[in-house]
Amino acid sequence: MTLLALEGLAKTYDSETNVLEDINFQVEAGEFVSIIGPSGAGKSTLLRCINRMVDINEGIVHFENTNIGLLKKKELRKLRTNIGMIFQHYNLVPRLPVIENVLHGRFGYKTMMQGLLSQFTEKEKRQAFFLLEKLGIAEHAYKRCDQLSGGQQQRVGIARALIQDPKLVLCDEPIASLDPNASQVIMDHLKSITSELNITCLVNLHQVEVAQKYSDRIIGLNEGKIIFDGPNHLVTKDR
Ligand code: ADP
Ligand code: ADP
Repeated sequence: MTLLALEGLAKTYDSETNVLEDINFQVEAGEFVSIIGPSGAGKSTLLRCINRMVDINEGIVHFENTNIGLLKKKELRKLRTNIGMIFQHYNLVPRLPVIENVLHGRFGYKTMMQGLLSQFTEKEKRQAFFLLEKLGIAEHAYKRCDQLSGGQQQRVGIARALIQDPKLVLCDEPIASLDPNASQVIMDHLKSITSELNITCLVNLHQVEVAQKYSDRIIGLNEGKIIFDGPNHLVTKDR
């Protein structure tokens, strides 16, 4: 089943130069796809177009046969419960405990500021612990996020993205701030948990070797254009 389809997508920020140009690809449910390319290639922008954090200038983005360009505000909120996001800098609330950061992935920022664990049901807490256990950080559930290492914080980021049971998770340079060991732990977890929960994964990376090790398929982006799209073994290292 095709989960995501981009047709002729173009994006400009300042209406002068295209940051993305004529982007066409489809992603099947269950695929683990890496998007690689140098800094400034347009990788972050591409992910922002897919969950409509930014408006697109041309073309169509279909998510499960819905043209997301046509969605109204309320429908967009629903779309975003189906699309989890993972960021380079984790984007957690540092002074709040791990468990609250995870649970607020379901309810958004407004409730988060109240910082009340009691507003969640036992079932919701069990679901959060299920994810934290899978990610090996359940023992840290009640620690503040700023007491954790970068790799642990990114695992909180993964749990937060998955708590809403999304169909797709978009990961924007999830390991760019981590050392090689922590990077490996994060990629291992990302790969195994998304495959176990049957979640489609689109990951921005700039290391070709990492993309080759973990993904089914690699899309190469340069200066806003797709320069490669194929199975991971076909990508050469100097690309
Ligand atoms: P990547 O993620 O591959 O590093 P980005 O999508 O962040 O690429 O950026 C692609 C291009 O778009 C860059 O030239 C960047 O400066 C520009 N850009 C990104 N975000 C904005 C923005 N909010 N406003 C204007 N230009 C932007
Ligand atoms: P990161 O390294 O976390 O991707 P960036 O430095 O690429 O962060 O971008 C930080 C923020 O600045 C993003 O929200 C991005 O949209 C915005 N941005 C990036 N490039 C530009 C630009 N050329 N003009 C305006 N905003 C930009």
